[in-house]
Amino acid sequence: MKATTWVGKDKVKVVDVPDPKIMNSRDAIVKISSTAICGSDLHLYHGYIPAMREGDILGHEFMGEVVEVGPEVGNLAVGDRVVVPFPIACGRCRSCQQGLFSVCENSNPNAGFAEKLMGHSPAGIFGYSHLTGGYAGGQAEYARVPFADVGPLKVPDEVPDDQALMLADIFPTGYMGAEMCDITPGDVVAVWGAGPVGLLAAASARLLGAERVIVIDRYPYRLRLAADRAGAEVLNYEETDVLDALNELTAGRGPDACIDAVGLEGHHGNAAMYAYDRAKQAARVETERPFALREAILACRSGGVVSVIGAYGGFVDKFPMGAFMNRSLIMRTGQCHVQRYTRPLLERIRRGEIDPSFVISHHLPLKDAAKGYQIFQKKQDDCTKVVLKV
Ligand SMILES: [Zn+2]
Ligand SMILES: [Zn+2]
Repeated sequence: MKATTWVGKDKVKVVDVPDPKIMNSRDAIVKISSTAICGSDLHLYHGYIPAMREGDILGHEFMGEVVEVGPEVGNLAVGDRVVVPFPIACGRCRSCQQGLFSVCENSNPNAGFAEKLMGHSPAGIFGYSHLTGGYAGGQAEYARVPFADVGPLKVPDEVPDDQALMLADIFPTGYMGAEMCDITPGDVVAVWGAGPVGLLAAASARLLGAERVIVIDRYPYRLRLAADRAGAEVLNYEETDVLDALNELTAGRGPDACIDAVGLEGHHGNAAMYAYDRAKQAARVETERPFALREAILACRSGGVVSVIGAYGGFVDKFPMGAFMNRSLIMRTGQCHVQRYTRPLLERIRRGEIDPSFVISHHLPLKDAAKGYQIFQKKQDDCTKVVLKV
């Protein structure tokens, strides 16, 4: 089959690889119809996530048709159309039983490696380095789906691929980011980052009853989407002092909740700050450029929630712990527990409450995956989200 593989920094290639096979009685094989490139794939592309190897198959957002099932997969049949959550979860361990699927205790075969870096291991993830299991990803013609009796969600025919595919990661991730904000009527929620996840976090905050949502980015075409499709007010941080503007918009108190949908490769309007973190990251003295996180903490009203859904990999420098502690802030974070959200969010799509496919800007054939990475990385042609058709 054809698959998109990681070659090295800023390089991916579609090559022929062996077809996946059932290896475990709870596996299924899915013939992929649509698969997306994620902002977090760009962290792999740029070489910021450790433990990628040449030839690793990329992709954790995919859907398609079940073509083979293991003997213990009673809930799926050959021919079912499914979308697959990005975290791999057994459904039976203590974390899974609590709905914490992205920290499943049984799905990362390289747990010992992750424990060295993180203390305990998170779940395995499709196509996301050997730190999270070294699983083959779904930017390919076929994928092996472990624990297929737990993760994949059957998709009714009337829901098109573009909508259903967003349930693999970014809609649940954005939604969880908003849910973690404990939104009550009248709340103001600020979102750093108008990428696909930030846009869906903003739209979800509106769904959950936020009175006002303010989105911060520097790309006018993305801010336009936030305003037009997520009902947000927008701030361009290259034109405005964000902290001043947020205070002005909230009578000096700050937003009730602040969502970091940027993560480890942030950019900062202040050139000196940017150079400081860029240099430390390049020297691997810190692994992240946490501008959005720092600003979200400083902006948040006292007693408010800082919700972190942007991806981080290691350590951050200059974390404003003084502000955090003295102003009674709350932080909630996590890779999304996607399996918890797929069904209810599919229902929201079917009821017409939201169409998460508004973030998609490009459709390309799988063979053009390298071009997809490039235009997404360079934000060419007003790129927000690339879907590869197989
Ligand atoms: Zn993703
Ligand atoms: Zn589990």
